[in-house]
Amino acid sequence: MSDIEQELRERLTIVGRQLFADGLTHGSSGNISARVPGTDTCLIKPSGYRFCDLEPEHFLLVDINTREVLKGSAKPSIETPFHTRLYLQWAEAGGVVHIHPKYCTILSTIGEELVIMGLDIFGAPALAKGVPLSKFAPPGSEELADNMVAAMKEHIACLMPHHGSTAIGKSIEEAARNVKVLEDLAQLQYEVMLVGEPDPLPQSMLDMLVERAKEKGLLV
Ligand SMILES: [Zn+2]
Repeated sequence: MSDIEQELRERLTIVGRQLFADGLTHGSSGNISARVPGTDTCLIKPSGYRFCDLEPEHFLLVDINTREVLKGSAKPSIETPFHTRLYLQWAEAGGVVHIHPKYCTILSTIGEELVIMGLDIFGAPALAKGVPLSKFAPPGSEELADNMVAAMKEHIACLMPHHGSTAIGKSIEEAARNVKVLEDLAQLQYEVMLVGEPDPLPQSMLDMLVERAKEKGLLV
């Protein structure tokens, strides 16, 4: 195993455990993956594992084009289809995080588009480009993968009705930050909607944030 692959396994383990510690996943729901730099492969979480129980050796090495498991004996995540499709669609994507957090799931299930209102957006400025709502399809289906790549053609994150959220980044850490900030924004929107109407940040500020994301070298 290359040093690069081993280091990536360790980073995935840290990111997965942190997402669990932050309350963004529960049970064995959600999945994370990272592209092995310079290859057509990615490391992806095995099915049925809680994020908090992940160890570096648990991640499966999967061919992005064929989805064949090249290394590992467990079953790869049920959502391997959309992870691999997102890597094929976004040549610069280095990580994908998919979770079932409470507030993104609530908003998406009532058909609410994300309205960016809070300054948490500074922590993940690429989200200022917008976060579409994907169409519903059953978990693990090719149809879900079709819907995800359609929703994320120009965007680095989406809300998934009756399901959760997904974000990508140049690195697995960037993808995790995007998905965490997305949940913070969704929580604010939910709470605002309890007392009034969502009021988005001015478009000029959102445009400035997208420019800032580009200057920082983030995936936009
Ligand atoms: Zn899911």
